Amino acid sequence: MATISTVTAYALSNRFSHPREFNFEGGTRRIFKRDAILVEMETTDGLVGYAPVGASSSAMREYFEDATQDNLTDVLNTIVAPEVEGESAEDPEQVTAIVTNGNLPLFLRSQAASAINIALYDLKGKRHGVPIYELLRDQLGVDGEPRTELPMYASGGMYMPPQQYLEEAKSLRDAGFQAYKYRPGRGVDEDIRTFELLVDGVGDDMDLMVDAHTWWKMDNNSYTPDQVRDIVQQFAEGDVYWVEEPVGPDDFDGYRRLAKSTDAPLAGGENAESADELVELAETGAIDYLQGDVRHHEGYTGCLDAVRYCQTADVTFVPHNFGTDLGLVANAHLVAAIPESPYLECPVYETAAHAGMYPYELSTDILSTSLDRSDGTLTLPDTPGLGVEVNLDVVDKYPYVEGPWTEFIYS
Ligand SMILES: [Mg+2]
Repeated sequence: MATISTVTAYALSNRFSHPREFNFEGGTRRIFKRDAILVEMETTDGLVGYAPVGASSSAMREYFEDATQDNLTDVLNTIVAPEVEGESAEDPEQVTAIVTNGNLPLFLRSQAASAINIALYDLKGKRHGVPIYELLRDQLGVDGEPRTELPMYASGGMYMPPQQYLEEAKSLRDAGFQAYKYRPGRGVDEDIRTFELLVDGVGDDMDLMVDAHTWWKMDNNSYTPDQVRDIVQQFAEGDVYWVEEPVGPDDFDGYRRLAKSTDAPLAGGENAESADELVELAETGAIDYLQGDVRHHEGYTGCLDAVRYCQTADVTFVPHNFGTDLGLVANAHLVAAIPESPYLECPVYETAAHAGMYPYELSTDILSTSLDRSDGTLTLPDTPGLGVEVNLDVVDKYPYVEGPWTEFIYS
């Protein structure tokens, strides 16, 4: 039986030439860099598995709760690696449970367990010569031809004047995307105006999702519950596809109130601290879309628990994904295994061709495989495991830069 010989986590930073600055209602957000963690797992039979580690909501916690990416990397290398080295490389569930049953704080435990689980699934796929989505389809009992051409929604704009969102949405529509998600938070009137502009400008061609996470991060300037209800209802009347995180992640009563008092489909889950908490959010009955993430919610094992719950309830599982292409691919395997999952989240970064939130060259450099993603569709490779080659040059090319990646300044 093959066992795990080494687990190594690398903290990486993508520096920017200058900080990016965004103005929201009552404050400014600065972004200095983007961090990522890459995990490499070697086994006694000579296989190597890889995993991305959460770098989105975890990165928010970096700012708000001091859970930095280098802390998490240290935890992986000094606490988690010794726990799992020597264990079976052939049993993702059993080895992941060692981490989930450990003593780390819940949030760190879930992130660490996720990385271990994804790397073990990559290895399991490689050992059996099948892509991860086939392993997941087996577990879910999904028959028929696998779906490997996955529709993606463009996950873009943050804190811009209304017209700028529309320009972004149009350029993404022209690039082939059939759905656009954006981040408002510029004040009640402006947020409503932005949505109206988008509905008029691209509403016939694109599903529109609103990621309202800023509304509960505005400190003293946060919208009142009545304002939130009124905006959400206006979005509903414009046929919004979903409104994401309109209240704080653990404000289950807030979700329930909005579900009762508006007609908008609600989404959430990326900030749940564990797979159990993810299911608890779905159990409120208040959300329509559950956004688990294999990097946050104990990997495939944790997310499959949530998927199974969704399949018994009136909830659609649609993964959260923001980070590098390794994370995109990891979550894509989940979407490929869930026939009812409508979209994969595709972050829109700044490139030569497109004005996005900020540049993130590491997000594509992390793979030496070039992904087939034209017309808003990701075609998932059918090669074993994650199905992609990791480019280890990123370890030298993107050394970790100390300090927070972002800051919020409230006026
Ligand atoms: Mg979100």
